[in-house]
Amino acid sequence: MLLDDLSYLADCSKNRSNLKILNYSIDTDSLSHAYIFCGNSINLLFNIALSFAASINCESKGCGSCHVCRNTLKGIYENIIILEPEGNFITMDRVIQLQKFMSVSAYSPGYKVCIIREVDLLNKEAANRLLKTLEDPPDEKSIFILLTEDLPAIMPTVSSRCIIFEWDFLTAEKNNIMNLDEELFRKLIDEGITGMLSSADGNSYKDCLELAARINEYIKGSFKNDDEEEGRSLVEMYKKTGAAKNEIKKLEESLKAKNKRKLNKFINLGINYVFDIIAAWLEDILSVSQGASKEALNVPDNFNFIKKYFSKPDSSRVFALMDVIEKNRKYLKYSIYPELALDNIFLQMKLLNAVN
Ligand SMILES: [Zn+2]
Repeated sequence: MLLDDLSYLADCSKNRSNLKILNYSIDTDSLSHAYIFCGNSINLLFNIALSFAASINCESKGCGSCHVCRNTLKGIYENIIILEPEGNFITMDRVIQLQKFMSVSAYSPGYKVCIIREVDLLNKEAANRLLKTLEDPPDEKSIFILLTEDLPAIMPTVSSRCIIFEWDFLTAEKNNIMNLDEELFRKLIDEGITGMLSSADGNSYKDCLELAARINEYIKGSFKNDDEEEGRSLVEMYKKTGAAKNEIKKLEESLKAKNKRKLNKFINLGINYVFDIIAAWLEDILSVSQGASKEALNVPDNFNFIKKYFSKPDSSRVFALMDVIEKNRKYLKYSIYPELALDNIFLQMKLLNAVN
């Protein structure tokens, strides 16, 4: 069956038990009207959602070869609608379109299935509108599958109406999303921080900005989009079929937007990693001021440096900066300029030192 064919789900017991539950609900026709699939790869979640949707409507519960299965997997079956963010948001227009689709009766027998990619990108208005549909589904033959990499970002009023399935793609993530050289990256950040903090010119913030810029460049330079080649050949294929110019342009634009979203996600992942390292620094600064031993630190090698430059830190300022970091993590996905967040944090970190 289709769901069991997803080989990347096989080596994790959590995923296997999710599959068992989904297969059981298909077999017994005991489906919920709303699901959330979360996990750290929106593309893999999307594959699961399509396979699930196909299995729901296929007469053989997911044969993979019938008309329903094939068209659902391609995302073009008439009973399914797929919502994707445009730019950084899913807009109200799209939700209204979805409500219209869900409110008319199904085109073909079976369930109408709505899949929303990156549902965390719904703006508040649109989320409230969606909530109304979830609270009061148009009919019992509607199923919503909401996909997200960021479950906490979804309004609790929405998530509480869904059955939540968490999927584990750890290995897939490591291979596909992060192709940063972690060790080199960490070295760049750590050396940058010690350089910045020990700089003789305590009033110059130029080095903070330079460090933020250097880190950003490194992250962007490490980005490699595996789908890009695929996208180009799709455009070529499209051209050969004699598609209209405006259609080709549309396809190109949509691929470009997709690429940009992917890059932003990659940058956010990278910046989050930088935040982890800075947070570890701040913890170590506090620990040292409390008399912790070298071995007790996150990074024991920084012990002497911290002792020299932060012998008596103002702990309230350290805590405040930790808070800033956590807030920035949250806002990162909405920010168009993640480098600004980094600038700001490095400046405050340096200020921490200047007070001593
Ligand atoms: Zn089938």
